[in-house]
Amino acid sequence: MSPRLRHLTTLEHLPRETIERLLDRAMAMRDACAHGTRKIDLLAGRTVLNLFFEPSTRTRTSFELAARRLGADVVNFDIGFSSANKGEELYDTLHTLEAMHLDAIIVRHKVSGTPDELVRHAMSGVSVINAGDGNRAHPTQGLLDALTIRQHRPDFENLSVAICGDVKHSRVARSDVHALSALGVRDIRLCGPASLMPDAAEFPQCRFVEDFDRAIEGVDAVIMLRLQKERMAQTDLPDEAAYFRQYGLDTTRLAKARKGCLVMHPGPINRGIEIASDVADGAQSRILEQVGNGVFIRMAVLGELLAR
Ligand code: ASP
Repeated sequence: MSPRLRHLTTLEHLPRETIERLLDRAMAMRDACAHGTRKIDLLAGRTVLNLFFEPSTRTRTSFELAARRLGADVVNFDIGFSSANKGEELYDTLHTLEAMHLDAIIVRHKVSGTPDELVRHAMSGVSVINAGDGNRAHPTQGLLDALTIRQHRPDFENLSVAICGDVKHSRVARSDVHALSALGVRDIRLCGPASLMPDAAEFPQCRFVEDFDRAIEGVDAVIMLRLQKERMAQTDLPDEAAYFRQYGLDTTRLAKARKGCLVMHPGPINRGIEIASDVADGAQSRILEQVGNGVFIRMAVLGELLAR
């Protein structure tokens, strides 16, 4: 059996067995909640800190809900009102908060690698979970996307998945590729304008297709990405109307995918920029299912790291 995780900063190099164990645990959490169990006392007496240096709606609230459902106490450290604004160093913030006896820190930061820095500096016994660092990784999003796909298309070996949009700045794309390739998906297509594509050497397991009409042909799932303007140089910003014409997902394009293709998006959605409203809200959309699965995945991860 693959060893139990102490931290979760990336899915890169995680064995298939560990990823499958987390997905199975998430299903077990979902079943327990479906049977009316509102609270599972797995983490009673544990304290979890939400330390978000970048805005978040879904991830932060679902981590909070997940921790509470497992019986943990949750502290939300709102960086907007903290002394980090007064120039307090990351590590001072860390040690100040640690002195309050934490068991886990869930961190989001615009600088790639911050969660690993915290792993190096955190007191032993404190687990670190990455809730998104720069463009590098968003491991719980990768897991919840894999879970959403597995619920509908469990035959990963024969799956085709397209990941489209601003791949270059997307930590979601990176974690999705790591999860899906570890689970056996062989046909992963990355699509977007050349200026928003990463270096091909970073993704040897993927096919790069610049033309969205070709990239979407016959796929079982399409994961759309947001234009992450906050990570772009002003000169990289595409014209939004032109972008939608070339890279927006509308019903005509979706018809080129395999029948019943799953439509996914990590949110927040820019309607009319990367996805048309009727597709985002349409019968094939799994976007709200992704949000729901996010809670179960985060329960699974907290359980893996913190259960005694
Ligand atoms: N919510 C996701 C993230 O934090 C996707 C996005 O922001 O576009 O990376």
